[in-house]
Amino acid sequence: MTFGTIFDVKRFALHDGDGIRTTLFLKGCPLRCPWCQNPEGISPKIHLRWAPSKCIHCGICVSICPLGALSREKSRLDIRIDHRKCDSNGLCVEECPTAALSFNGRRVSAEEMAEEILRDRIFFETSGGGITLSGGEPLIQEFFAAEVLRICRENSVHTAVETTLSVPRSAIDAVMNYVNLFLVDQKIADSESHRDILGADRDPIRRNLEYLLSRRAQVRIRIALIPEYTATEGNLRRLGHYIGNLGPVQPSVELLNFNPLAENKYRIFGQPWPISRNTERFNPEEIDYFAGVLRKAGVKRIVT
Ligand code: SF4
Ligand code: SF4
Repeated sequence: MTFGTIFDVKRFALHDGDGIRTTLFLKGCPLRCPWCQNPEGISPKIHLRWAPSKCIHCGICVSICPLGALSREKSRLDIRIDHRKCDSNGLCVEECPTAALSFNGRRVSAEEMAEEILRDRIFFETSGGGITLSGGEPLIQEFFAAEVLRICRENSVHTAVETTLSVPRSAIDAVMNYVNLFLVDQKIADSESHRDILGADRDPIRRNLEYLLSRRAQVRIRIALIPEYTATEGNLRRLGHYIGNLGPVQPSVELLNFNPLAENKYRIFGQPWPISRNTERFNPEEIDYFAGVLRKAGVKRIVT
């Protein structure tokens, strides 16, 4: 059996590919996007986490933990987790009356996961949907991903993978035969800024994208419009030039509006939300403007 670590399963998803989809979120990501919509998916490890806003400070968790992994901060209110002592037995999670303690992921076999996904096959068939692997970066767990995708394809379910392509070529080769559609994120065009802001080189991503196209894989590029990071005229113009020169069969580009709701996740778990200004969604005129910048730079097919 092949096991993987996931942190969410979203059924009836409408924005992760065509039709009605089940999106499976795999843990672990090589990038460090400051605006990450799924911060619980960055670490490949499963951690116990505490949500201050849900805690009623009853202290049950501290007294029940057999390993002394939980304690009160000086204020006597905040719960401190010593991750070196915690062995993830889950006693505190079970006993917490308000679900303020939870794990940020779970281990699951590919077979079990595929079985769960295939229960929604009727919705995929009637809507032209399927399964989408997302994350994190799903191709970090390439063998688990490949097995889930293989079983889905064997059962005639359409498969998509949402990826940064910031992975070794071998990870792409592991899944290539089982993927109907690659949804490839493109974020920051300038190599130096890419490294500074996202913590990873852009060159391997470019090479992997060009490799996918040379193998005639179905690719749709996705650009998330993040205020001050990706959604600037200069960045979109540079991305547009790059995409416009990708070859005779240019992939389509989907623009994804900024989603300020992600701030909730950061607030619940007491983390600072990194987007400080202009946290509104872009209006239709602004989206049209960004699409126009891409078009002028050479992008032929844009989905907004
Ligand atoms: S058991 Fe839950 S509600 Fe009670 S102190 Fe611990 S985290 Fe807070
Ligand atoms: S999961 Fe178990 S070991 Fe970890 S903090 Fe909770 S009770 Fe203690």
